[in-house]
Amino acid sequence: MSLTSKSIRLALEITDPNIIFTKDAEIELIQGVMSLVYYAKLSICPERCPQCGFNDQIVRYGFDQERIIAPSFSYRPTYLKLSCQRFRCGHCTSIFQNRTDYVRPHCVISEPVRQMVLFETFSNQSLTDISHRYHISDKTVQRVIDEEATRHNCHQTTWLPAHLAFDEFKATGKMNFIWGDSDRHEIGSILPSRTAYQITKYFECFSLKARQQVKTVSLDLNAGYINLVPRLFPNAKVVVDRFHIVQMVSTALNMVRVQVMKTVPKSSKAYRFMKREWKVFLKRFEELDAGRPTYHVSVGYYDTAVNLIAMCLDLDPNFRTAYETYQAVLSAVKNRDVATLERTLNNYHTLNNRMDQSIKSLKKYQKQVSNALRYEYSNGFLEGINSQIKKIKNTAYGYKNWFNFINRIFLERVWFKPLSKKLPTKKAPRPIEV
Ligand SMILES: [Zn+2]
Repeated sequence: MSLTSKSIRLALEITDPNIIFTKDAEIELIQGVMSLVYYAKLSICPERCPQCGFNDQIVRYGFDQERIIAPSFSYRPTYLKLSCQRFRCGHCTSIFQNRTDYVRPHCVISEPVRQMVLFETFSNQSLTDISHRYHISDKTVQRVIDEEATRHNCHQTTWLPAHLAFDEFKATGKMNFIWGDSDRHEIGSILPSRTAYQITKYFECFSLKARQQVKTVSLDLNAGYINLVPRLFPNAKVVVDRFHIVQMVSTALNMVRVQVMKTVPKSSKAYRFMKREWKVFLKRFEELDAGRPTYHVSVGYYDTAVNLIAMCLDLDPNFRTAYETYQAVLSAVKNRDVATLERTLNNYHTLNNRMDQSIKSLKKYQKQVSNALRYEYSNGFLEGINSQIKKIKNTAYGYKNWFNFINRIFLERVWFKPLSKKLPTKKAPRPIEV
């Protein structure tokens, strides 16, 4: 049995019965590429004139041939040369032609190809890659994304999630503000600017009732959003990101270590240990092996990490205190021990090194920092989203147009994200230790 027109219809995803094949497909040279071309015609009589609505003076008025990009099975471009009947209305002298749902008006890409292009944009690949595969231009791919985006871009201002997370990232040149839903781990919105004015303006579009329902806002201390929260969300508690707290003290410890290193000769064992095995200082003290000596290349003999750290801490009493402070904060965060954290912060005395600055910041926002240990919420998921955004940007070799970039982020990350079967686990606030 030979291939019927039904088979070709199914292969080309043609559902319109008015498209009728007129002759066999051929290989032709189109724009310098040997392409597969199908021939068909669209014959359907219009019911009435689209301009004036009369139907008694419509006459056939020749054919118009369109070259439509059809789905291809190999890397050979496939086209459908579709002859469309044109008509003329005697009443209003307008000329029109039949339409099919296989291709949009004034468009040369068939609807199945458009859908395939859109589907490709959900995964992280550059517009040029997609455009090569479907024999279209990269601008067309962007247009498909933009058209899809207009269907989704509705900025609702009626509802806010109970638990928010704030962060920032660099988009096209300057820093952008991003907020997310801490329960669903989803992007809420991205603003082109992170100024207090812009953020206030954005959130003030939401009703006071919606804003009052926000219970926590997690953020890091770098940005100045912390002062905006009480004004915008009257009932919300600020939760400082746990990772950020540890990062603040670990950065300080590293700087103190470098300061101490400068006071000892470069050939000394302490210097070599601190330079080469600096990561050991950042580990939790309880995790270090105190009993079994191991070989340390930096010093050239067998010893335990605990002994070697002690040797370095003996160099400077302030270094020792800084290390102890770091360890106390680290284990307080790990064990969610609010009392230890507050005791560490309150009993801290200035050491005249970089640790002072970090502890001062933590002390200034002590209540919000303690909240980090009481609530499960953190900015971790937003950091994950930010690194995904960075990947989207890298794949595209950067974006010049902010809207194109944001549309792509939402396309890949929000609008077409498959629903996870796992239900989000309810996060209850931890009991407060007194
Ligand atoms: Zn007419």
